[in-house]
Amino acid sequence: MQHYRYRGSRKQRYAPPHSRIITWIFFSVIACIVVAGLAVCLIYPWKASQTQEPETTPVFAPVPAVQTSLEYRTVQYPRDQIARGPLILVNNEHLCEFLEDSSLISVYDKKGTGYKVSDTTVKIQASIIDPFNEMMETFYQFTGYSDVMAASGYRSKEHQTRIFNNNALENGLTQAEKWIARPGGSEHHTGYVIDLSIYTEQGLSLDYDGTGECRWINANCQEYGFVVRYPQDKTELTGIDYEPWHFRYVGKPHAIFMTEQNLCLEEYIEYIKQYPFEKGHLQVTDGDDVTYEIYYVPAQDGFTGVPVPKDKSYEISGNNVDGFIVTVTL
Ligand SMILES: [Zn+2]
Repeated sequence: MQHYRYRGSRKQRYAPPHSRIITWIFFSVIACIVVAGLAVCLIYPWKASQTQEPETTPVFAPVPAVQTSLEYRTVQYPRDQIARGPLILVNNEHLCEFLEDSSLISVYDKKGTGYKVSDTTVKIQASIIDPFNEMMETFYQFTGYSDVMAASGYRSKEHQTRIFNNNALENGLTQAEKWIARPGGSEHHTGYVIDLSIYTEQGLSLDYDGTGECRWINANCQEYGFVVRYPQDKTELTGIDYEPWHFRYVGKPHAIFMTEQNLCLEEYIEYIKQYPFEKGHLQVTDGDDVTYEIYYVPAQDGFTGVPVPKDKSYEISGNNVDGFIVTVTL
């Protein structure tokens, strides 16, 4: 009897092995369902916020803005001036405004030492000949190499139309539309561009690839205000294949900052909007220890009041999209 009770009590306290396994499996399945449900609840909103992020926050984390104690006054700028200046963005989405322009000069007429010019028709903005001459002279002093040639500068709309049509005939319209700027969409319309090539003793012009001695130019051009406008890792953003020969003048602090932060012009024009005048400004210091202050002013209809410092030199450039960028030399 005692023995029976003992067996009976064991029966009540310990379930037989098969029913313990079933219970264990049951609770394991329940636990898995709960964990999976929690994971979906936590991860899905996180994923959703990840995909929405570009719409709500800037693509790039900004370099901290600075507050300065400069005194400002306001100058009135007409809206069409957003299409003028060394920071204008020109591509197939933001076409060049062909305003009357008398500031183009022949590179040949103002040529410095240490490089060649393909012919007298290569024209650029007068304001960029000095930095270009300085860059090429320093390059020549460093390398002793004098066969780099200024091959192409300003292009008219008609000139770009011929280039586009020839490429379309040769490679088909789809390829041309992918890799060649449309008439109006070429940076060469701005006059802030110089394409380089290599001159040979036979009088030929070879492709400039930015290697060998020429690597110096591609690595140092930002100190003279130029950028390699179509880098290898930005083709999806620029819409133009890698062009190591195409140098675009944007101004020294901008070129230095774009190079340091690895931003192409499409990215930089968006980036700089994180520094509107009312908030902090972007400060950039060049290799000569000159510091610049940069800020953005959105354009209004008609005239825009652009704040400029009372007693510092400054430059105002349009961005060819929606506003002005002010560069102050401190
Ligand atoms: Zn070019």
